[in-house]
Amino acid sequence: MSTIADNILQVSSRIQAAAKAAHRDENSIHLLAVSKTKPAQALREAYAAGLRDFGENYLQEALGKQLELADLPLIWHFIGPIQSNKTRAIAEHFDWVHSVDRLKIAQRLSEQRPAELPPLNICIQVNVSGEASKSGCTPADLPALAEAISALPRLKLRGLMAIPEPTEERAEQAAAFAAVQALQASLALPLDTLSMGMSHDLESAIAQGATWVRIGTALFGARDYSQS
Ligand SMILES: *Cc1c(COP(=O)(O)O)cnc(C)c1O
Repeated sequence: MSTIADNILQVSSRIQAAAKAAHRDENSIHLLAVSKTKPAQALREAYAAGLRDFGENYLQEALGKQLELADLPLIWHFIGPIQSNKTRAIAEHFDWVHSVDRLKIAQRLSEQRPAELPPLNICIQVNVSGEASKSGCTPADLPALAEAISALPRLKLRGLMAIPEPTEERAEQAAAFAAVQALQASLALPLDTLSMGMSHDLESAIAQGATWVRIGTALFGARDYSQS
């Protein structure tokens, strides 16, 4: 068995155990394989072991892998910061975007989503760690942003995404994820998605209602940025 296949089994059993502890249906929690910096071959191995959803942060890198893996029916999620000049390629080449944090970007994605594709699935990234994080809209700005995005014709607003400040303290993890869940609940919109939880904190995220956990290191090993 490949290391990646073995890692998938381990992550899946962590998800299962966390779902059980939270009295949740494990099928309500989806595994997004975060493959940034990893070669196409690693995604191919993950696909062979059953994964279909892949998350990428860097547009050029993602487009290259999409070409190399065009023979596989993969579902692509964009999860990195978005500059205006990248929206067209993202609208054309992805199924989900988890990292929308301002209206201008959402408007461009809606305008640029090709007519022959289904609406682009969107999560609004919200910043629940205050000064510690620069990405994500503020909780105060969220209601108006969510209303405006939900009215855009070529987008389907699915829910919220968050990357809380990293901590090993379970109580702090839980408090941050609970804040995201409460913000979602406070919106009078039909949302079904909470994208939260990474390799080190997926258990806390699942306990607070995560429906997508975004896992990189625990599936593919540590990332090496020295080549980029
Ligand atoms: C890199 C990344 C992840 C995965 O983090 P790991 O700690 O490697 O699991 C998840 N979400 C986002 C937005 C990322 O950039």
